[in-house]
Amino acid sequence: METIFTELESNVRSYCRSFPKVFGKAKMCEMYDEDGQRYLDFFSGAGALNYGHNNPYIKDSLMNYLETDGILHALDMFTEAKRTFLDIFKEYVLNPKGYDYKVMFCGPTGTNSVEAAVKLARKVKGRETIFAFSGAFHGMTLGSLSLTSNIELRKGAGIPLNNVVFMPFPYGFNASFDTIGYIENILNDDHSGIEKPAAIIVETIQAEGGVVVASSDWLKRLRDMCDQHDILLICDEIQVGCGRTGTFFSFERAGIVPDLVTLSKSISGLGLPMSLLLFKSEYDIWNPGEHNGTFRGNQLAFVCGSAALEYMYKEDLLNAVKIKEEFLVNFIEHEILSSYPLLKYRGKGLIYGIDFSRVPEKDVCFKVARKCFERGLIIERAGRNDSVLKILPPLVITLAELKEGLSKVKESIDEV
Ligand code: PLP
Repeated sequence: METIFTELESNVRSYCRSFPKVFGKAKMCEMYDEDGQRYLDFFSGAGALNYGHNNPYIKDSLMNYLETDGILHALDMFTEAKRTFLDIFKEYVLNPKGYDYKVMFCGPTGTNSVEAAVKLARKVKGRETIFAFSGAFHGMTLGSLSLTSNIELRKGAGIPLNNVVFMPFPYGFNASFDTIGYIENILNDDHSGIEKPAAIIVETIQAEGGVVVASSDWLKRLRDMCDQHDILLICDEIQVGCGRTGTFFSFERAGIVPDLVTLSKSISGLGLPMSLLLFKSEYDIWNPGEHNGTFRGNQLAFVCGSAALEYMYKEDLLNAVKIKEEFLVNFIEHEILSSYPLLKYRGKGLIYGIDFSRVPEKDVCFKVARKCFERGLIIERAGRNDSVLKILPPLVITLAELKEGLSKVKESIDEV
């Protein structure tokens, strides 16, 4: 046991530190450690498990595929599994809303689609600069890290992260400030010294940034500004897409249509590695092989991703998210915040954050998260100084489980 933890502790990711147990089994919203101890999951693998662990509907399709000797790896060749995924994605996600997107499979993980998005945008517009936002998280490889604003994370790059300019996200000091007007001034100023960007990349809800929700009005103004200035709009849906906010894409609530969309995490249904980039068909300008990679499209992820979309729409999961959100907000407001006026909360659908940053004592959010874990609740922190407790359960969570988890949060706050 000691050896395992020594090895885990040297890992650069911190989840092994947040949840210092060895886990063995999981079912829907529950995880079990090797001693059989049960944990309720309010983390969903950072948003990769919207449909739960081992969801039986999705798992059955995987087992069936394996039993019938389906193809496991085929580079980017055409396969039945890929065709089925594309057909189902079009049927459930693209066609009902009339989206004219082409789908490109990018690689195993979210950052692969972010890298592809900015590379394509730069080629389409023939410009190098990208605007990103303060508080943004888009990934940890060099291209996506250049779009990630956290200075501590950026230090690890070891080289200058050029050609990205950060604009203020409408939050904190900037909440009452006309951030769109500010960006527009820069775009209209020929002497700003800042090149017009090829694209602006945005998270409609900054998840890692502390669950900061951009208003629909702000997103609409951002879309209009991009149109007026011939700039592509990229929405990073990696954490808040796939139904998390009660619509398949989180940008739908604002009625906007981005030019490019990045997707990963839950798109593969069962937590398998896959990412994809959606782009309007007029931007289909890459030559064959211009953006390539061995694991562009995981066959098992196609199978599970197809089943996940079927499951989501058959079970009417998007409407269920809205009902669960109502319960969650009610609980936070009446059972938690009423006793703790310094705490604030914000979110949408089934991503909510309880913000401890106004509490004067140090590390309160960390202590609460640790107490939650001791009570059998897996929950992570996010935002500046990790001062926001991020509630991110699988979308399939029952109301009873939601209540159980929120009660553990409340008890932990009471205790700390
Ligand atoms: N973009 C967003 C919004 C994310 O939340 C993440 C991961 O948390 C990424 C990009 C990067 O994805 P990955 O860690 O799979 O590379």
